Amino acid sequence: MNGETIVVGGGVIGLTSAVVLAEAGHRVRLWSPGEPGATTSAVAGGLWWPYRIEPEERVGAWALRSLEVYAGLLDRPEETGARLVSGVHAATPPGADSLEPDPVTAREIVARCAGLRPEIAGARVLGHRVGLRPERAGGVRLEREELPGGGVLVHNYGHGGAGVTVAWGCADEVAALLDV
Ligand SMILES: Cc1cc2nc3c(=O)[nH]c(=O)nc-3n(C[C@H](O)[C@H](O)[C@H](O)COP(=O)(O)OP(=O)(O)OC[C@H]3O[C@@H](n4cnc5c(N)ncnc54)[C@H](O)[C@@H]3O)c2cc1C
Repeated sequence: MNGETIVVGGGVIGLTSAVVLAEAGHRVRLWSPGEPGATTSAVAGGLWWPYRIEPEERVGAWALRSLEVYAGLLDRPEETGARLVSGVHAATPPGADSLEPDPVTAREIVARCAGLRPEIAGARVLGHRVGLRPERAGGVRLEREELPGGGVLVHNYGHGGAGVTVAWGCADEVAALLDV
C-alpha cells in the first residue's frame, strides 16, 4: 500500500472505515464537509437491527461482524463508554423526506412513548432532530472500482436504516477490497 488513503464522509460508515483502515496500516485522511454532529449517524438510535437495508444476502454477515465488535466494546465499558440497555420497540414512524422537523410528528412520537412510559409526557424537550435514511435502489453499494490513472476507489454507501448495525462488517470488506 502506497501513499494516503482518503475516506470521504464522517458519519458512522466513514469513521468506522477509517478506523479499520488505520488499524490495517493505511495512512488515513478523513474528508467531511460537515461536523460529525450534523450527520445522519448522529441522529441514529444506535440499535443493532438490520432494518430497511439491502441486499439481504450480504447484510447478515456485515451485521454479525458488527455485533461481534460491539460485544467486544461491552467487555471494556470504562474505556469505551459502551453499555447494553434493554428497551421496548413500540413503533417505527414512516420515513421523513425533509430535514425540517414536523411538530405533528414530534408530538405523535412523544405521545407514543408516553403511552409506554407516562413520565415522558411531562419531560422537557431539549431539541428536535431529523435524519434521512440513506436508502438506494439495489441497497448498499460496496464495491471496488479501478480509476483511470491507477487509483482505486471503494464505494461504501446507501446503508438505509442500518448503518450502525453493519458498519464494522462493511469496513472490513472495504479494507479487503482495497488490499486486493
Ligand atoms: C431517525 C433514524 C434512526 C436510525 N436508527 C438507526 C439504528 O438504531 N440503528 C442503525 O443501525 N441505523 C439507524 N439509522 C440509520 C443510520 O443512521 C444510517 O444508515 C447511517 O447513519 C448512515 O451512515 P453514513 O456514514 O453513510 O451517513 P451520514 O451519517 O449521513 O454521514 C455522511 C457523511 O458524508 C458527508 N457527505 C455528505 N455528502 C457529501 C459530499 N457530497 N461530499 C463529501 N462528503 C459528503 C457528510 O458530511 C457526512 O460526514 C437511523 C436513521 C435515522 C434517520
